[in-house]
Amino acid sequence: MKPAPFTYHDAQSLEEALALLAEHGDEAKLIAGGQSLVAMMNLRLAQPGHLIDINGIAGLDGIERDGESLLIGALACHADIAGSDLVREACPILADAAGHIGQYAIRQRGTIGGSLSHADPAAEWPLMAILMDAKIEIAQPSGDRRTVEGADFIQSIYTTDLGPDEVLTRVRFPCVERDEGWAFKSFARRRGDYFIVAVGATLALDGAGRVSRLRLALGGMEVTAIRLVEIEQEAIGNTPDGDWIEHIAAAARGAGEPADDQHADAEYRRELACVLVTDALAEALNRSGRG
Ligand SMILES: Cc1cc2nc3c(=O)[nH]c(=O)nc-3n(C[C@H](O)[C@H](O)[C@H](O)COP(=O)(O)OP(=O)(O)OC[C@H]3O[C@@H](n4cnc5c(N)ncnc54)[C@H](O)[C@@H]3O)c2cc1C
Repeated sequence: MKPAPFTYHDAQSLEEALALLAEHGDEAKLIAGGQSLVAMMNLRLAQPGHLIDINGIAGLDGIERDGESLLIGALACHADIAGSDLVREACPILADAAGHIGQYAIRQRGTIGGSLSHADPAAEWPLMAILMDAKIEIAQPSGDRRTVEGADFIQSIYTTDLGPDEVLTRVRFPCVERDEGWAFKSFARRRGDYFIVAVGATLALDGAGRVSRLRLALGGMEVTAIRLVEIEQEAIGNTPDGDWIEHIAAAARGAGEPADDQHADAEYRRELACVLVTDALAEALNRSGRG
């Protein structure tokens, strides 16, 4: 399998990448880790006439803390995020989720920016962006920047808010609070496969041990990851015990409109959602101040 012929461009700055995108329009594609795009090119599902490599752009792979936010550059690879002490301290669920992506070699090359731009419905980063209300930073051809909420950025299967002439530059995640519990749980046929269903949860308790904030998102139950907003809101003020977890897990079972496909039927996905939410909430509770 070989890709169709293309011209390779080695962009050394964001301005150069944007100018090349503007010049070549629909004929051009950015390449970051190449872990999704190259496979598509080899299968001739993508046939860009111009390939713009952004790996030479300095500063696009940084991970830094900015007050109560964690800023992750588009070129940060899954392995760097999984292994980052800063991420483990500021928002550990991100490091855990990154460690579940593919195999070792995939994690060394694949990037957070590439994964979000590709928007595979069974990918970890779109789920994390929706769970954590990430802010996606985008550079426009004019040189201006715009910021989009994670839930607005991921629009559908392999579809995002990103224009063909734009570059995703950075993702801003909120840091979890001290004593805030968290858990990422997923089920795949083999370790490293794309998940069939995955759950992300964070859980904060007030001084009386009642829920003050729950974030809960599911992947694999719709064409995009979904945030269980109603369940999150109803959870506030409850005492998180075994009955509470059972109640939330039963509600999660009915979330979304899962598809029957070659990986699993809808009923199996619902069962997985229920089991994984149970596990995730129990783990988040253990990690919370009460644990
Ligand atoms: C065998 C295998 C198993 C995998 N398993 C998983 C898994 O379990 N979970 C998971 O989440 N992923 C998995 N992946 C996908 C992997 O995470 C990819 O790294 C990711 O989907 C794409 O990132 P990339 O940097 O390689 O992007 P590329 O392949 O280089 O690009 C993907 C798309 O994003 C665009 N793009 C890239 N960077 C930018 C940017 N900064 N701004 C705008 N557009 C951009 C490209 O033009 C292209 O359209 C797997 C891949 C393989 C090959």
